[in-house]
Amino acid sequence: MAHPQPRENVTRIPAYVPGRPPTVRPGMTAYKLSSNENPYPPLPGVVEAAGVAAAAMNRYPDMGSAELYAALSERLGVPAADLATGTGSVALIYQLVNAFCEPGDEVVYAWRSFEAYPIAITAAGATSVQVSVTADGRHDLDAMAAAITDRTRIVMLCTPNNPTGPALTQTELDDFLAKVPEDVVVVIDEAYVEFVRMDDAVDGLATYRAHPNVVLFRTFSKAYGLAGFRVGYAVAPAPIAAALRAVSLPFGISAVAQAAAVASLERESELLERVEALVVERTRIRDALLEQGWEIPEAQGNFVWFPIGERAAEFAAAADAAGLTVRPFQGDGVRVSIGEVEAGDRLLEVAASLR
Ligand SMILES: *Cc1c(COP(=O)(O)O)cnc(C)c1O
Repeated sequence: MAHPQPRENVTRIPAYVPGRPPTVRPGMTAYKLSSNENPYPPLPGVVEAAGVAAAAMNRYPDMGSAELYAALSERLGVPAADLATGTGSVALIYQLVNAFCEPGDEVVYAWRSFEAYPIAITAAGATSVQVSVTADGRHDLDAMAAAITDRTRIVMLCTPNNPTGPALTQTELDDFLAKVPEDVVVVIDEAYVEFVRMDDAVDGLATYRAHPNVVLFRTFSKAYGLAGFRVGYAVAPAPIAAALRAVSLPFGISAVAQAAAVASLERESELLERVEALVVERTRIRDALLEQGWEIPEAQGNFVWFPIGERAAEFAAAADAAGLTVRPFQGDGVRVSIGEVEAGDRLLEVAASLR
């Protein structure tokens, strides 16, 4: 029987597997370490700003997010014309592929990396070209440069890479950019940039200023603790930023989310103290895991990666029994977000029991 059919590519879109909420167990505090969320509750002032905005929910939000653009422009020192906001940086990935790819055009990215990439690329009818990360979870930039063809319109770089953890160095990035044709957009997905602590770290803003084809994607979901409100932004040369804005959903970012993002920027120093505490906790956890004998790649985000392949489900089940929800990628490994210190202690016990 005939019935309406979506485009062929729609049937091939992989499912996004969200981090599970914790299983509730009587007498045991459960911790969600499966979505790289910020474990801290919102800062005072941010909730109030959101509350004031919520009182006007009968009105559409400011479609141009003028206050948010102004605040970001001032904070980053870039013209507002070089900014594009979206409902999370996931939305910006969709916008970019929609704006730059014809069906069959290629997008090159590392794998395993952020699972939203293949979803957005397939949804747009574009073609994923996945380049395996190295054994220690790093982008293989030589192989990625070699994978660029006449059909390549976009290269996605995820640094630090979710879920494996390592970040690119500026030297590596510069060498790579020198090999990329100027008409290919290079995205630097910096969702975890605030957590990076390393020598020769990527300076995304300087890189975007130096290259007319480089786009930065950032988000309020991780370091800023606004995952539930869906606000991300791109910093890009004006023509690319204009294309991203042109294909955006009208009125996408709610007034509540806009207000919370602006209030968060005003309280950035307090937020960054929390980020520092998470970085200290990340170092404690990774050092202890290395001590236990696990091979944990360099961790520059708010998570650690256990490259344990087929043991991922077993590890996740053991963590769940201890009240921790982690994120298994069966066949590849397990990603565990850095959260409360008590959660970290429990993770170390689970990990020790599985050695
Ligand atoms: C979490 C994450 C994002 C952003 O998610 P949003 O909540 O949509 O802003 C983007 N890229 C990577 C690699 C991420 O891990």
